[in-house]
Formats: sequence, structure tokens, C-alpha cells
Amino acid sequence: TYEASLASAAAFMERHERFLVINHVNPDGDATGSLLGTGWLLRQLGKQAVLVNEGSTPEKFGFLPGAEQIINASRAEKPEFDAVITCDCADFARIGDVKEWLPLGMPLLNIDHHPTNDLFGTDNLVRTDAAATAEVLYDLLTYMKQPIPQEMAVCLYTGLLTDTGGFRYSNTTPHVMEMASALLACGVEPAPIAERMLETITKAHVRLLQRALQTLVLRDTDQTAYLTITAADMEQCGAQNDDTEGLVNYARNIEGVEVGILYKEVASDKVKVSLRSRSIVDVAAIAQSIGGGGHVRAAGCTVHGTLADAKQIVEQKVSAALASQEASV
Ligand code: 5GP
Ligand code: MN
Ligand code: MN
Repeated sequence: TYEASLASAAAFMERHERFLVINHVNPDGDATGSLLGTGWLLRQLGKQAVLVNEGSTPEKFGFLPGAEQIINASRAEKPEFDAVITCDCADFARIGDVKEWLPLGMPLLNIDHHPTNDLFGTDNLVRTDAAATAEVLYDLLTYMKQPIPQEMAVCLYTGLLTDTGGFRYSNTTPHVMEMASALLACGVEPAPIAERMLETITKAHVRLLQRALQTLVLRDTDQTAYLTITAADMEQCGAQNDDTEGLVNYARNIEGVEVGILYKEVASDKVKVSLRSRSIVDVAAIAQSIGGGGHVRAAGCTVHGTLADAKQIVEQKVSAALASQEASV
């Protein structure tokens, strides 16, 4: 039961002393907020914690308390640790190259909320109806009767805010709102966080948007819309990975569109695919069938092939999902 997994997660934290805490590649607000929240909790318990991402953490998360402590594995020496915690990772591959640091059989607590989570940890704290990993962490804090200092609250609030799209997505439950309320009572100021996370875009993002909109294609009787970003676009716009965040919504948000897709060429033989659906198609199932994962309405995967290969693979699956839906009504 979930109650039992909360107890075992608490025991995991109490049992070990030196933790390596990892979040997913190309970290988002929830990955970063839950990573930092876990760090705050461990230190509150008197433990040592090294926080790490495969690469660099986007500058926009630099305001989060403790963000300067997140190390970049590609530029750091492997630290000493005797237990691992992963945050917001649906499967082991999501930690990226940090996996090189993990000896076989290391105790690993997997804290997550993705329906596609494959329970890869030796211990797993996974609630798939939670809106964010930050919400799962909040469950754990409540279970452990731990106080929530303002710094920790800011990190958890940011994860909750970003993974609910500003409390707009269908994962916005009464419990989400209760958690948000409790965090505000801990001293979180919501307006500056929303301003940074939801109301600010980078110049590179706008340049990419200008190009991406020109690539818009509608198919499946206008129920599918897709946008394409090439590696050259990324380069010429001076864009980082996280500058593409949110672009896929321009496809999905078009009236009548059920599935929005963004194809991002990472290399000539590697394409990152983002999938969003409005109300019918389970894009997590589609992404998972291509080696990725995510949520019913927001998922992603990486195709090892050209842009044309990626489009062929994904569009066949999306068309089939739409057709099977039509057949069933
Ligand atoms: P995005 O399209 O914004 O990169 O990701 C949307 C959702 O899908 C997020 O919840 C993210 O964690 C998940 N996701 C994206 N790419 C992958 C992937 O390659 N593997 C898995 N398991 N999940 C992914
Ligand atoms: Mn995430
Ligand atoms: Mn998340």
C-alpha cells in the first residue's frame, strides 16, 4: 500500500547517512523543486546529501533556495555516498549519465508520480495520481511529521505549480490546492514564482517560436498538429534545451486539435518527441511504446533516427489511436 511505501521511504532516509539525490535529464520545475526539497528534508534529518543532475540546471531555477548546490555530473568528481534517491524519474534511464556513478546493487529510493514508472528502485515511493513529485514529497513530510521551512516550501510549491500548468491541468485536485494553501502558510510568495515560471520566456524561446510556427502541419482531419525544430534552428537561435519548453502547446492548443507534437532534432540520428493531448488520446501509452513515458496528457520519447523516421513512427501510432477512438464512439 501507499502507506507502507511512505513508512519504508521514511525508514530508508533514517537508515542511511550519505545520499546522492538525482533528478531527470533536462530538468523541469518539478524535477528541480523535488530534488531540492529532498535535499532540505535530508539535511533536516541530520543527513548528508549531494544533489546532482546529468547536466547543468537551467538558470531560471537559480532562484530556488539551494539551487547553487546542485552539481553537474558531467563536470564533477563522483562523490562518496551509500544510498541513492531519484526524483521525478519514471525509469532508470531518466537519470542519464549519472548512472555511471551508481555501483550495482546500491540501495535506491525512487520518488515519483509518473503512471509509466517501472518501480526500478530497491524502494519505491510512487503515487501515480499525484500531480507532481513535489506532492509525493509533501505526503512524506506529512507522514514523517516534519516541519516545512520556507526554503523547502518554495521548492515544493514550484514543482506543484509547474507540473499542474499553474493549477490548470486535470491533475489539480483538492489535495493539490490544500498543499498549495499549506505552502503559502509556510511563507511562499506565489506571484514572483508564477512570474518566473509561467510569465517569462527567454529571447531564444521567442526566436524558436517564430521558426516553429512556420513549420506547423495539421493532419488526421486536423485532429493532430505538429511543429518541427531542427538542430540548426537550435544553434541559430542560440537556444538551450529548456528554451523549447511550452512550444508543443502551440500545436495542442489549436481548436479542434486532440494531439499536439513537437519534433526536436537533437542530432542527425536522434529526435526528441514531445506529445500533448487534449482529452482523449493516451499519449503516455504512445510514448512508452517508443521507449519513453510520461502522463496521459503529456509524454515524451527519443527516437534514434532522422526527423522523417520519427514522424513516420509517431504519426502512425497517433493516427491509430485516433482511429480506434473513433471506432469506439
Ligand atoms: P516533455 O515533452 O515536456 O519533455 O515531457 C513531458 C512528460 O513526458 C514529462 O512528464 C516527462 O517526464 C515525460 N517524458 C519526456 N520524455 C521522456 C522520456 O524519454 N522517457 C520517459 N519515461 N518520460 C519522458
Ligand atoms: Mn519532470
Ligand atoms: Mn513531475
